[in-house]
Amino acid sequence: MARIYLDYAATTPTHPEVVKAMLPYFTEIFGNPSSIYSCGQQARGAMEEARTKVAELIGAKDEEIVFTSGGTEADNFAIKGVAYANRDKGDHIITTAIEHHAVLETCHFLETQGFKVTYLPVDEYGMVDLDELRRALTKRTILISVMHANNEIGTIEPIAEIGKIAKEAGVYLHTDAVQTVGHIPINVDELGVDLLSLSAHKLYGPKGVGALYIRKGTKMVSFMHGGEQERGRRASTQNVPGIVGLGRAAEIAREEMDEEAEQLSRLRDKLAQGILSRIEHSRLNGHPTKRLPNNVNVSISFAEGESMCLNLDLEGICCSTGSACSSSVTEPSHVLLALGLAPLEAHSSLRFSLGKWTTEEEIDQVLEVLPRVVSKLRAMSPLLKSHH
Ligand code: PLP
Repeated sequence: MARIYLDYAATTPTHPEVVKAMLPYFTEIFGNPSSIYSCGQQARGAMEEARTKVAELIGAKDEEIVFTSGGTEADNFAIKGVAYANRDKGDHIITTAIEHHAVLETCHFLETQGFKVTYLPVDEYGMVDLDELRRALTKRTILISVMHANNEIGTIEPIAEIGKIAKEAGVYLHTDAVQTVGHIPINVDELGVDLLSLSAHKLYGPKGVGALYIRKGTKMVSFMHGGEQERGRRASTQNVPGIVGLGRAAEIAREEMDEEAEQLSRLRDKLAQGILSRIEHSRLNGHPTKRLPNNVNVSISFAEGESMCLNLDLEGICCSTGSACSSSVTEPSHVLLALGLAPLEAHSSLRFSLGKWTTEEEIDQVLEVLPRVVSKLRAMSPLLKSHH
């Protein structure tokens, strides 16, 4: 049975070109990039080239890119780094109810350290209300953190408008762009962000490597203490093969992103419309148009998300319920609850996320299998019987 992988938002396969670019840095060119002899300097050269490629992908300067161990570290670094460095100015942070746990849990931690956090609500499509944001700002606000696109429902937030509000208020703006970098065009100046998180394994790069963009002049404290790597901003010997992989992935994204997004939006719409027309009592979650080109999130009443997922797996189809990162947790998704879904509806949700190697035949196959799975589960469901 051929596997149909539709969970690219959880992680992407590493592009063969990326693997190829990384390999020499495990073997011949293994030197420490801080060493002064040539094998170290060669590694440093490759790392700096990767930095340029990442910077180019988001319209930043090389020296504004700090490599990290992934999206989670970038989010922690951005938020804690600004919070602790600007404590003399204020203690208030604004974020949203639908952030990834990497942002939410960092904010929860800071609340235990005396910071105050406002969690902005979102509308039924997952969009942040800009008036609510304006009202939440106080003289003590030091940071706004709003994700660029949501990983579960794909809604793209109005970051450029938030950037203007932040600038006017003299408050730093961080965006978690883990789901958008390499998928839709990004320019840090157009967005007006001071900090931006990204992760390689969401753009066909390897796991365990990412980056934080830090606008020049941003007042930050370091998060990892130790050596002087990354201009003293992030101690620890750099993951050279991983960074080289991220750089190559960024380079490929620049070339292929636009065409890929066009192709994926077509398949996305086919999948979404196919599900809605074939399955009674199903609805699309997230924004109808302002959404990631690869995301389909649906609620299918009277069928439980995890059961659908496991049954699809038996047919070789990989997708997820709610957030991939928390799919082992049985709590309903905090994102779907924030949209106003009842817990039961939130438990009946599936996320399909498409990618570079998704084909039309695979979408047809899902549209054939899913209605069958749903009928089977509904036939066993006491909920449907009480509904009729
Ligand atoms: N932020 C968002 C929006 C994500 O989707 C993810 C990935 O799961 C992360 C942060 C965490 O990234 P990483 O897995 O690289 O730590």
